[in-house]
Formats: sequence, structure tokens, C-alpha cells
Amino acid sequence: VTPGSALLPTSAGGVYLYPGEFEAIVHGLGSAASALSPDPRNSLVSPPVIARSVIERAGYAKSFPHLLGTVLTRSPGGTADEPDIVLLPAACYCVYALYEGARLEAPAELSVGATCFRHEATTEQGRLRSFRMREFVLLGTEEHCRPWRDTRLAAVRDWLASLGLETDRAVASDPFFGSENRLLKALQAEEQLKIELLTEVGDGHVQAVASGNYHKDQFGRVFGISDGSGAVAHTACVALGYERLALALLHRHGPDLRSWPGHVRKTLGLEEALG
Ligand code: ATP
Ligand code: ZN
Repeated sequence: VTPGSALLPTSAGGVYLYPGEFEAIVHGLGSAASALSPDPRNSLVSPPVIARSVIERAGYAKSFPHLLGTVLTRSPGGTADEPDIVLLPAACYCVYALYEGARLEAPAELSVGATCFRHEATTEQGRLRSFRMREFVLLGTEEHCRPWRDTRLAAVRDWLASLGLETDRAVASDPFFGSENRLLKALQAEEQLKIELLTEVGDGHVQAVASGNYHKDQFGRVFGISDGSGAVAHTACVALGYERLALALLHRHGPDLRSWPGHVRKTLGLEEALG
């Protein structure tokens, strides 16, 4: 097997190996994305697991039970046990839990990276079950959060355009489970709470490479976070999907990284990474 630059499938659908050249793109995106973050000291990395209680309280287990990956362990006696952790479905959840009970004198902006898991029903191009995400998260007031989401997402869009990736901005909604959640999906779209940046990751195959989400006071309420005036805090996040971005760049510029435009190679540090 010669690894090359493409994702290598494994016997588990939606689970891939990352060859060095693919990884060089992901690494370059990670370093370059740090320029979008105001203060590199406010950055975190989350492990791929998180307290089950956080995911339940945040509403993920109820809204997306079909996507959530649980952990199964065995007691010494052999009985199966679901421990107090689950597989992390998105990077930003650990941040709301970290701020539990906090009163914010000023808006707080953090960046968090993690390997995420979702038990996706399909395995089309760009839909992985294990994938990496970088998120920028803002905790603040209602006045801060929505405009922040829009300016951050616009900055991401400009940044992607500078890498040769033109994206379409579209109002979106999350894949809520079951008919009882249909209303949530409609409300989310109507209030434009989720915006996605879409681009081709393969021939004629479009995926969201980034998304911006405004949660209103949902997580502020659940985790008891307040703003400077004592009101419940609002939150927003902007997420980048590293594998989809790398796939989109490979689709745009071709499989030979050495023939990519000089400024893209430079921004992503590919010269140093690959010689
Ligand atoms: P989709 O609409 O494609 O299912 P999503 O709206 O559920 O994606 P988000 O929850 O907004 O995605 O996740 C943030 C980002 O993480 C996405 O914009 C995408 O880049 C990436 N991402 C999400 N799901 C996957 C996946 N299954 N495989 C690879 N990347 C993903
Ligand atoms: Zn998020």
C-alpha cells in the first residue's frame, strides 16, 4: 500500500486511516485556523469522551440518540455496564460544562479541538463516523452571540476563499431524531440558528465544511451560566470539520500536494511538512 494523499478506508464504514500527506493538510489547517482565534491562550483540546451527564443535560441524548456512541464495559463478574462517559459528538460541549455556575463579567471566547464520533447512517464521501473538529465558542449576552457567529463565520468563509475554496452559505438544521423533534428542526431553520458553509468534497458531492450555531440561552440555562447583569448567558459556536476541509482542498487542487498553488502551500506550511 502506498498511502498517497487520500483517506484510506478500513473494514469499519466511515472510519479511515490518515496518510502522512492528508495529515499534513489537517495539521496545516489547524495551525492556520489559529489565526482566526483572538487569543491562542484560550484554546483547549478535549479527549474523545465526555461525561454522559453533560451530553444528557445538554439535550444531545434526547435530540440525537441515533448518532450518540456509548461505551460498554464489563465488570469483573462479566456483567455489561454503561459507564459514566460517552463518545464525544461535538467539540463544544465540554466548554459549557467547564463554565458551569460561572458569572461572566465580559464575553468569553474559547477555541476547542477534538476527535468526535457520530453513528452516521450513511458513509458517502465526507461523512465519517470518527472525525476531527475545531470549534470557536462564545459565551456572552444575546447582543454578542448572534453577531459574533455571523462575523466569525464570514471570517472563516474569507479564509477558505483565500485557500481556493469557494463556499455557499446556507441556513440549515440539525438531524433531529424522530417526529416529536420535527418542530425543533422547523424552529431552528426559521430563526436561522444554524448556518452552514457548503462546498464540493468530491465530484458533484457537496458537504458542510463549517457551521455557525446560535443556541440562545439553552446551554446558559442548563449549566447555570450568567452574564455580567446576572441574566442567563447566551452561547454560540463556529465549527470547522478538518477531514471535510482536507477533502475539499484535495478535490479543488488535486491529489499531488506539490502542484498546489504556492500561496496555499505556504499558508498550510506544506513545504516544511513534505519537503
Ligand atoms: P451534516 O449536516 O453534514 O450532517 P452537521 O450539520 O451535523 O453536518 P455540525 O454538527 O454542524 O455538522 O458539525 C460541525 C462540522 O463538523 C460540520 O460543518 C462538518 O464540517 C463536520 N462534520 C460533522 N459531521 C461530520 C461527519 N460525519 N464527518 C465529517 N465531518 C463532519
Ligand atoms: Zn458547537
